[in-house]
Amino acid sequence: MDSMNTQRLLIVGLDGATFDIIKPLAEAGRLPVLATLLQQGTHGVLQSVQPPITPTAWTTVFTGKNPGKHGIFDFQTFDPQTYATSPVRADRHREKRLWDLLTEADQPSIILDVPFTYPPRPFNGIMMTGYGTPRTAGTPFTWPPTLAEETPADLRAEIRLALPRHRFDRSMAIVEEWRDIMQGRRRLLRHLVRERDWALFFVVFGITDNLAHIFWTFADPLHPNYASEEGKRFREAFFQAYEQCDALLGDLLDWVGPETNVLIMSDHGFGSVYPRQYTFRRLVEGGFVRYKRAPLLAGVNEWAMRWAMRLYTSTPFFKELVKRLRPGQAKLVKQTLAAGGLLPTHSAIDPRRSLVLPSEFGLQLWLNRRGRFGHGMLDEDQAHETIARLREFLLADRDPITGKPIVRAIYEGRDLYHGAFAAQGPDIVLELTNFYDPTTRPSAHNGRIEGGHTPDGVFIAYGPAFRRGDVVAHATLADIAPTALYLLGHPIPPDMDGRVLTDALQPDVLEQTPIKRGETPATFGEIAGGPDFTPDEIRDIEQQLRQLGYID
Ligand SMILES: [Zn+2]
Repeated sequence: MDSMNTQRLLIVGLDGATFDIIKPLAEAGRLPVLATLLQQGTHGVLQSVQPPITPTAWTTVFTGKNPGKHGIFDFQTFDPQTYATSPVRADRHREKRLWDLLTEADQPSIILDVPFTYPPRPFNGIMMTGYGTPRTAGTPFTWPPTLAEETPADLRAEIRLALPRHRFDRSMAIVEEWRDIMQGRRRLLRHLVRERDWALFFVVFGITDNLAHIFWTFADPLHPNYASEEGKRFREAFFQAYEQCDALLGDLLDWVGPETNVLIMSDHGFGSVYPRQYTFRRLVEGGFVRYKRAPLLAGVNEWAMRWAMRLYTSTPFFKELVKRLRPGQAKLVKQTLAAGGLLPTHSAIDPRRSLVLPSEFGLQLWLNRRGRFGHGMLDEDQAHETIARLREFLLADRDPITGKPIVRAIYEGRDLYHGAFAAQGPDIVLELTNFYDPTTRPSAHNGRIEGGHTPDGVFIAYGPAFRRGDVVAHATLADIAPTALYLLGHPIPPDMDGRVLTDALQPDVLEQTPIKRGETPATFGEIAGGPDFTPDEIRDIEQQLRQLGYID
């Protein structure tokens, strides 16, 4: 073993973190640890997958493969015959995760709160699964299953999911709950880092994404919320999420010691984008999507929904009104709107009359092709014609305040995905323009935008193997797994789509330890394929999506 193989690797994921927040806060002296790492390590934008959403992105991080290979395109999948949705499961593909590959080399890993790792599959190490784990009683979210018993009594209460129970609302309750989760995680991390054996320690903090979903508009000077009464308080609550991560990162660096290599990364960025209701509204207005007609309201229903969506997306006042209601009231309003067919939901789409089938998220679109879907209606020529028309229709839309296009780019699935699941992926993925610009203070306000995911994540590498005070370009999510394998002395499997981020490495490290190319694909012989989620588990996972505002 050469010396590099004895170096351990710490990966810290900051879900949804963006340099648009990190850099100004670091310059203001509020993120001292990240500021030091930016100066003394190597950093750059980490390009996410399309669409840049949590399950898709993290699965690419820990497999090193594009979504066409792992098949996780969304939070939910839908049945091509019945169009019924169900939450995605992490055990429906054959791709090995980083820790599976380390297990084969007898290197232990500790994997904490990484999204969409449930259900855990046996491996050499310790795991507590992350976001996407059902919070129903008795869920086996740890590996080994005996983790709680192995943990000292005073820390046993911390063997819990790092998922807040508070509803998605603008109150300080969820901020307090996150503070409690982070304090508990600090105690558990100190124990695991120092007392347990590991070569790879991989932990994700969800607080940066969760609080961004709730408070982002209060941090955007372009949004009227910025100057509102609660503006400063909510903005501070959001910035403090980054400060908490920074402080814990400092502790982690102390505990792992200077000989450990450290990667800090996010699965996607965050910015100011148009809400998903905008996409649904325009798809209806363009005749691409039609909603089911309620029998009593035939004809009226679709008109009413279009009207409601127009009100919701073009009248910031109405949207804010709904968001400002107390959680119980907001739920009632949303339920009433949904029951009246006035909120766009996946289940309200009429597959018999829609050319395009959008996901709940509104960014992934499937062409309703004949032979592919139960009510498929498009042949190959019509599918091409639909894409061309959709492109022209959506790319022409301009934001009335800034004049910028609302849709930044329209991708085709065949250009984005390759692998066993590529044909199941969306035909079209929309990328929305990010209107966030912390440096400008426009005189006009724009209440149409809201906080949402962007493709620009963050990458910061620090430690003995990495260049100091340098930047990397063109780093992508799929590069994390091969880079981690290289740092831990492993060959890179031939079927990984990413590459070792050599630009970030010290030249003498590469000279002493050349990259080894493996011959064996990083795939299991068979799919683990556990049982489907139970109705209770599905209800709970949908509740998690609701907390982030992904579904109504
Ligand atoms: Zn995320």
